[in-house]
Amino acid sequence: MRTFKQVVCCRFTVVVTLVEMASAGRAVVATALIMLLGLPLAARAASPSTFTVVALPDTQYYSASYPYIFTSQTQWIVNNQTSQNIAFVAQQGDLVDDAKQPYQWTNADNAMYLLDNTSPRLPWGTCPGNHDMNQSPGAFAKAYDQNFGPSHFTGLSWYGGSYQNSSYQTFDAGGRQYLMLDLQYYPTYAHGDVFGWAQGVIDSHPGMPTIINTHDYLLTQDGRSDSGEAIWDSLVYPNEQVFAVFCGHMHGECTQISTDAAGKSVFELLADFQEGPNGGNGYLRLYQFDEADSAIHVKTYSPYDTSGGTGGTYMTDADSQFDLAIDFDDRLGAAVPEPSTIALLGIAAVSLVAYAWRCRARAS
Ligand SMILES: [Zn+2]
Repeated sequence: MRTFKQVVCCRFTVVVTLVEMASAGRAVVATALIMLLGLPLAARAASPSTFTVVALPDTQYYSASYPYIFTSQTQWIVNNQTSQNIAFVAQQGDLVDDAKQPYQWTNADNAMYLLDNTSPRLPWGTCPGNHDMNQSPGAFAKAYDQNFGPSHFTGLSWYGGSYQNSSYQTFDAGGRQYLMLDLQYYPTYAHGDVFGWAQGVIDSHPGMPTIINTHDYLLTQDGRSDSGEAIWDSLVYPNEQVFAVFCGHMHGECTQISTDAAGKSVFELLADFQEGPNGGNGYLRLYQFDEADSAIHVKTYSPYDTSGGTGGTYMTDADSQFDLAIDFDDRLGAAVPEPSTIALLGIAAVSLVAYAWRCRARAS
């Protein structure tokens, strides 16, 4: 007897199982009806949803001088949570330019806290950059902690916890649960054992697809920074479940695909537009997970820049808009259908089992 889990995971197993259960004399009729009813459900289960993870690169100049650009980014996310099926927002550090200036934190709060005006409440996280820490790797960043530390996320089920200025969140999207690990700036020099803490978080979420969000990791060319090398060696290379790293800090864009200890691909993604007009002109990254296309579509978009039209502007050069090929089941593990699909399959299974038994009763 197949289990319910197998029925859910193998979309056509429900058909096969019910045919086996029908009496031999009625198998042809039962099969026809089951196929008729089962195929639309199977098609529904085989159509995984696409979803978007938004990355907000270095926002420091917005907090210092252009707060309306920062809020235009987060208000666009709020307005498009449903249409873009946004599952998570990751700010990549350097929330502010000068951590000693309270008004800059106020501007950062006003922008990021807009994300709390979502229903359902949109999971989001930040990682501290060097400017959030007064350029002092290793020192505990008090202002960062006061504005974006655990106290802001009290009671939210998706906020996992924090250590020093690092934190983690989980979110559900496309039939999988993901782990976002926001690492402190330059964790090598942090007080305490940030790598040990992060490894503990990974170990307590075994096999969960994981993205590391950290400020300083890739260079704009020629690989990783010193901080990036340490993070790669300690957390990315040895942990197969880490499939992507988001970072900023270095001005520009860079994408690197590396191979971890298990021979799996890791997407390392740098985006930082702070050198552009108005501290970046509102450009953000959209990572559109599209299982049907076996790809993560990467788009760079500004809701603020209307040079491309009132609907905002996409940056379409090859560094800014491209696809990352990925076999989702192989790289991230099998997806579980959405609850509504499970419920439909369950109802269908019960109905068809009842029908099959009626067939058998009539035949005997
Ligand atoms: Zn920086």
